[in-house]
Amino acid sequence: MSIQHTSSELKLSELDKEVRDILERYAISPKQFVKFKNQFTTKTADNYIIKMILDSEARTYGSKGHLEDAISVYNKLATFIATEDKNNPIETIRNMHRLSLRQYSRLGYNKVRIQNCGAAGCRECKAISDKIVDISEALKKMPLPNPLCSFDLYRNGHSYCRCSYEPVAGSIKTTNKKNKYDYSLFRKYLVPAAILILIITTVFYFINL
Ligand SMILES: [Zn+2]
Repeated sequence: MSIQHTSSELKLSELDKEVRDILERYAISPKQFVKFKNQFTTKTADNYIIKMILDSEARTYGSKGHLEDAISVYNKLATFIATEDKNNPIETIRNMHRLSLRQYSRLGYNKVRIQNCGAAGCRECKAISDKIVDISEALKKMPLPNPLCSFDLYRNGHSYCRCSYEPVAGSIKTTNKKNKYDYSLFRKYLVPAAILILIITTVFYFINL
């Protein structure tokens, strides 16, 4: 899917069918592709441009708090890396899991259960299946995608871990942040202020004696 063109600027009309088909499959507008491509002064591979567009789209969604959308774009990017790029999408899958953990935490869950990708899953993934982990712990250690996974979904020589997290019912957080905050505010300002007032009144009392 490489394009040979004589002028340095790529024009929309110059896009060949093969590239257009791939862009359509990954819901990227040809106009956006051309715009990105022309930002590079050196000849840049089409695959690299597509990965960059999807990655920046996912990051934009993530930074705006649209986690659901960001997760779906990362999923698309992982498929692209594995199928078109024939590469290892582990980093992208990890980004996707990080967002799904954040999403469950935002919904109020504390714990998640690791779900195996079913009968097709490898032995390494079956070994961690059904394990329940704290979301905070999972965000630190990132057990998914399983680094030991050997499931070569796209037969490209790279593993593609399809394990996922499922929120654990009954792990909804019950801490009341507002009360905690009010209490700390009370300790921080009101107690020292009361002591100060007590000292001042005592001093004035003795001065007036
Ligand atoms: Zn797996």
